[in-house]
Amino acid sequence: MLVSKTLAEVAKHIKPGVTTLYLDEIAETFIRDHSAVPAFKGYGGFPKTLCTSVNEEVVHGIPSEYALREGDIISIDCGVILNGWYGDSAYTFAVGEISRELRKLLEYTKASLEEGVKAAVAGNRIGDISSAVQVKAESGGFSVVRELVGHGIGKKLHEPPEVPNFGKRGTGQKMEKGLVICIEPMINLGSKETLQMSDGWTIKTADGKPSAHFEYAVAVNKGESDVLTTFDFIEEILNIM
Ligand code: MG
Ligand code: MG
Repeated sequence: MLVSKTLAEVAKHIKPGVTTLYLDEIAETFIRDHSAVPAFKGYGGFPKTLCTSVNEEVVHGIPSEYALREGDIISIDCGVILNGWYGDSAYTFAVGEISRELRKLLEYTKASLEEGVKAAVAGNRIGDISSAVQVKAESGGFSVVRELVGHGIGKKLHEPPEVPNFGKRGTGQKMEKGLVICIEPMINLGSKETLQMSDGWTIKTADGKPSAHFEYAVAVNKGESDVLTTFDFIEEILNIM
């Protein structure tokens, strides 16, 4: 999917000193060069192509003149529209060397997403995904953001059902083959509470501690679900395959 390749293109440019606005320009150019349209720009009035959320910012950060620093983590969330269909994916990157604590936060957040994907099979319920994500994240001593959730996706960016990152197995809507959903755990190093900033978009952790976010779009299937927005292109760039 084009979002995956856009995130990989952005990954090439992530280093100390680079502004989040510059990363946004890279993404917008790449998307338009591939005959697609940035899905977030103008969505509900959002001004940019990417959501760039640094450190204690959970999601929906607006690209700005902020220059990345060694030791930061940055969640980059990207949406595109290609031939009328939406793609949506997010990855949290380390800027240079990061602390062991942050490394663990990124590992567990990504692993919680992978656990969610395993549960996203036909015949299971949404709560099976929610529970799988929550159990994995909390097993690392981290907390799960409650206010923001995953979602269905297709001809619109956000479609039913909601896909919370916390919940009980065996509850919620039963999933059928062909359902396409975004699973996107937002996991905090400290407590789960968040705050809405006065820019109307940025969500931060209430305690000011860092937060990570990974997102896949997944097509529900029998036996094993299909991840539509691979991280392979990104991790090839990051050299962590
Ligand atoms: Mg997203
Ligand atoms: Mg999403």
